[in-house]
Amino acid sequence: MGSSPIIGFSIHLGTVAPTDTGSIPPWVSTGHAIPVLVEPKTSGEPYWSGWALAGDSRATAVASHDGVTVLLAGELYHRAELGSVVGETADGLSDAELLLACWLRYGPSGLRLCNGRFAAVVAENDSVVVATDHAGTIPLYLRTRPDGVDVATEAKVLAEGAGDSFPAPGTEPAPGLTGVRRVQAGTAVTLVPGSTVAEAARTWRPPHHRLIVSPDEAMNRVADVLDKAVRTRLGGPHDPVTAVLSGGIDSSSVVALASGGGRPVRTISLGTDIGDEFAAARVVAEHLGTRHHEFRCSSEELVRQLPWAVAAAEIVDAEVLEYLLPLVVLYRMVPNEGTRIVTGYGADIPLGGMHRTTERLHSLDEVIAFDMGTFDGLNELSPVLGSMAGHWTTHPFWDRDVLDLLTALEPGLKRRDGRDKWVLREAMRELLPTATVTRPKLGIHEGSGTSSAWSQLLRRVGVAESDLASVKTAMAAVFHRRTVREQEPPGEVSFDDVLDEVMSEQNLAVT
Ligand code: ATP
Ligand code: MG
Ligand code: MG
Ligand code: MG
Repeated sequence: MGSSPIIGFSIHLGTVAPTDTGSIPPWVSTGHAIPVLVEPKTSGEPYWSGWALAGDSRATAVASHDGVTVLLAGELYHRAELGSVVGETADGLSDAELLLACWLRYGPSGLRLCNGRFAAVVAENDSVVVATDHAGTIPLYLRTRPDGVDVATEAKVLAEGAGDSFPAPGTEPAPGLTGVRRVQAGTAVTLVPGSTVAEAARTWRPPHHRLIVSPDEAMNRVADVLDKAVRTRLGGPHDPVTAVLSGGIDSSSVVALASGGGRPVRTISLGTDIGDEFAAARVVAEHLGTRHHEFRCSSEELVRQLPWAVAAAEIVDAEVLEYLLPLVVLYRMVPNEGTRIVTGYGADIPLGGMHRTTERLHSLDEVIAFDMGTFDGLNELSPVLGSMAGHWTTHPFWDRDVLDLLTALEPGLKRRDGRDKWVLREAMRELLPTATVTRPKLGIHEGSGTSSAWSQLLRRVGVAESDLASVKTAMAAVFHRRTVREQEPPGEVSFDDVLDEVMSEQNLAVT
């Protein structure tokens, strides 16, 4: 893991020499701009032009050797292991250089080795490979053009100059945008810029099998793999780290492991007038001795920041936006730019934590299989949620090794003794107060009151109960059109104007 990852990029790979690198629009992630210009060494190789954004100005975006050029946003989490197979010590190498070394040894299949949070572009000869990490945690978009291909980590950057992209395998249309396609999770798409030659290879799939392991062994394995995932996400032993803490078992586990070895950890919690989990978070913060901060935001102020959540996640799914909004709001309240933030996000998907009422193990496992088969494109783990406010976020529960293990454990280890997420709770029993280990799950949108706050605002203007869901969906689409397709700065999109627009479209009177 480099100390300062590249947090995003926008690159044109073309057959014609570029005149400049293009300018960075003001409404994308904030960071230090690094121009990227690469000349072909031999004929047939593409020209690169564009920019990358980094958390600090010393970062390098591109690594080149032997006719192979690599651009990597994000970071790799098993640097030592990768170093061991490419025959170099990873110590002095940036993550882009490490991926390059991996590519030089393995070719495109090197991408199957990588456990990280990354989006990568690799050019070799006349081909360009555009790749996501196992779970697509950094969304990656492309637009093919007659003179090349544009690749960017934010869809809004590609929204202009709409035209048809050809439907390259391994990509899907981005919602609400013509001609912009999203690279699927765990996928490497090979393209020849300026042509319609393309093929896709999978680099990861969620496991469909289930493992039988004794409860003790399962606990130990979960504790070990999660500990490693947290540690590799923290930087050096004295680097400060911030964790978003609700006091639920997921974020509390991450904070417990991050605090191990005496590292100073700052924890932050968000609450509104409708609800907070401050007491539960405080129990954990006191137990672990973190520097703890509570942020409060009125529920109305929270909901009015929906344009920021849409601009960051670039999705139109109102329900997912309700999960993401509290985090976007909290990240925007964190004062010092360039903060590294770890979360407990995503544990519930492989563990079936949302399905509190599912009685039968078969049903529990079916919803886990379904959710693991449908996460792609929800953008819940997108770094843009934090990088719009200048921060870097990372999610240990969606580390490739953690996800492989949690998904594959047989469901009787996930629901056991009347408890959900049993194996995680038991794995953390020694590190956390009993009240935390046994605390029932509370969704992020419930704890912060997001869902009810948005509904309340709509009810107040007279939206009927039966129309709440469709009005939310229609509003999400308008926020998306304005902040992503039309690239309006989210701060200039008024919640009330969008509500008026939707109400009149749906022939609902504002009362
Ligand atoms: P559980 O799922 O058992 O409730 P949890 O609260 O840690 O555990 P979620 O509710 O799924 O997990 O929330 C996802 C993540 O979002 C949390 O792990 C935490 O990192 C962050 N989060 C959720 N609510 C808050 C909050 N009110 N303040 C700060 N961070 C939060
Ligand atoms: Mg959770
Ligand atoms: Mg789902
Ligand atoms: Mg919770």
